[in-house]
Amino acid sequence: MQLEQVSKSTWAIVDGSTYGNVGCIRIPNHLVVIDTGMTPVLAREFRKLIQKEIGTPVTEVILTHYHSDHVLGAQEFQECPLIASKKMVEHYPTLLKEQWSPKGIEEMRKFYAETEPAFSRQLENLTIITPTQTFKNSIFLGKDKEIEIQHTGGHTVGHSTIYFHPENILFAGDLVFCEQYPYAGDPTNNPPDWIKAFETILEMPVETIVPGHGPLCGKAEIHTQLTYFKQLEEWVKGKLVQGITLDTIQKEEDMGPPPPYNVRAERRLPVTIERWFNFYSAEMKQG
Ligand SMILES: [Zn+2]
Repeated sequence: MQLEQVSKSTWAIVDGSTYGNVGCIRIPNHLVVIDTGMTPVLAREFRKLIQKEIGTPVTEVILTHYHSDHVLGAQEFQECPLIASKKMVEHYPTLLKEQWSPKGIEEMRKFYAETEPAFSRQLENLTIITPTQTFKNSIFLGKDKEIEIQHTGGHTVGHSTIYFHPENILFAGDLVFCEQYPYAGDPTNNPPDWIKAFETILEMPVETIVPGHGPLCGKAEIHTQLTYFKQLEEWVKGKLVQGITLDTIQKEEDMGPPPPYNVRAERRLPVTIERWFNFYSAEMKQG
């Protein structure tokens, strides 16, 4: 696990060791952590690195979205305000009944037990911490509003990005899967919101992006993914207009426009197609 300095006042772990990437921003009187990684053990290690290499106590934790690989380390920061969008927190009761129920956690442990036994053990004695501070559209931290947390939706309902104005650093959460096929198959995934968020980012003076997965990148990565998303959107809509069903697409193993990356596409592409078909089909029925 390596804590990499991104700019003068920002750091991130993007080597995959925490599963979802994590990061932090230092401003006067604050050290703000962004996401917590997949397990409490990994979060503890991340916190130790902050202490060793930055040496400032953590004051707040922001969660970009509710996927387990970004939030299950939250119990290691229990004494700090835990910030997330209102829409994200509204989804917590559902998560606590489903994948984070005792049965759901047990299934997750079993899923990893064979391939990653040590990791599976890290999910024992897990406590789910519900965010303590919420916001609707956006919220700022710092005396000069240096840190802007913006609700975007897209990847999941309630997803947010974090922008550090003084150094033009964007913590994009899972809007950006750098150099790999994105996961766009969540049951709350909203393709138009994701596309809109990409277009907004392209208009911002962003210099460096800390993605939710993969290495640091810049706006070129957003261009690449946005181009593909627009092609995929057009393809899905075109099929629906022709009355072609998801069932037919799946039988024909039609994978749509060629993606920019095949890394992780084997599992993520089919679920993306399924979600996007369902999303646009519901949208067309509504008119
Ligand atoms: Zn995610």
